Amino acid sequence: MLSNIRIVLVQTFHPGNIGQAARAMKTMGLSDLVLVRPRCYPDVEASRLAAGAEDVLDGARVVDELSDAVADCVQVVGASARLRSLPLPHFDEPDAMAETVVGHARQSPVALVFGRERSGLTNDEIRQCSHQVSIPANPDYGILNLSQAVQVLAYEVHRAWRRQPASDYRYQRPAQAEPPTREQLGHFQAHLSRVMASSGFLTQPHATTEQQLQTLFARAQPSRRELSLLRGLLSALEQHIATDLSDDKERSRNRD
Ligand code: SAH
Repeated sequence: MLSNIRIVLVQTFHPGNIGQAARAMKTMGLSDLVLVRPRCYPDVEASRLAAGAEDVLDGARVVDELSDAVADCVQVVGASARLRSLPLPHFDEPDAMAETVVGHARQSPVALVFGRERSGLTNDEIRQCSHQVSIPANPDYGILNLSQAVQVLAYEVHRAWRRQPASDYRYQRPAQAEPPTREQLGHFQAHLSRVMASSGFLTQPHATTEQQLQTLFARAQPSRRELSLLRGLLSALEQHIATDLSDDKERSRNRD
């Protein structure tokens, strides 16, 4: 599905922007890059800024006309910060655009088209699009750098794709630590109660305090490893208490 989503850059001036756009694409799982009459390509600055996305950059196709870049596409969305009075369907929100683009991309190629750094897309180029999209931004300063505009729209496309039931996207999560058994938790709680009593923290059995601490530990959802760490701490405290008590006894015997 994502391989059917093409990014088209029209007459990009700075090769660095092409490199950064390639990087933005790769982070979002896109790889089909088409360049319409770039000023400078291939270029070392483009490769430098691609920073690991050279495969996307090197795989870019160069064409002479926008029409060559989008001929096989069923939907062509022109990205534009400024609205012109063209009767094209317009997406005010990139997520709405991404949803339809991802829907079409299930079967056929679609394209997102970005204009020149200085002058954007010409009216004629916009006419070759089927839709327009704007990234809502600061009304007084709403024009993004070209590669950042690519990043925002590529992110939205990736997000819409992730949400498809058919997507096999796996969120990166640390491996879940093994939770303790009820029995291990029970042993910990009994140990804690013993230390509370032997340390003098509780001078008499006090159910509310014990329950409060048990609730605290239940809420913390300690892993098996963390629980055994706590057990180790309690054992060390217990030994310390025992030594203190025998020292006390020794001292009082010496006094007597
Ligand atoms: N000076 C140009 C803007 C160039 S920015 C102009 O006034 O039109 C380069 C490209 O980034 C634009 O052609 C557009 O494709 C994209 N872009 C920048 N900001 C955008 C925004 N807020 N919404 C949609 N696309 C944007």
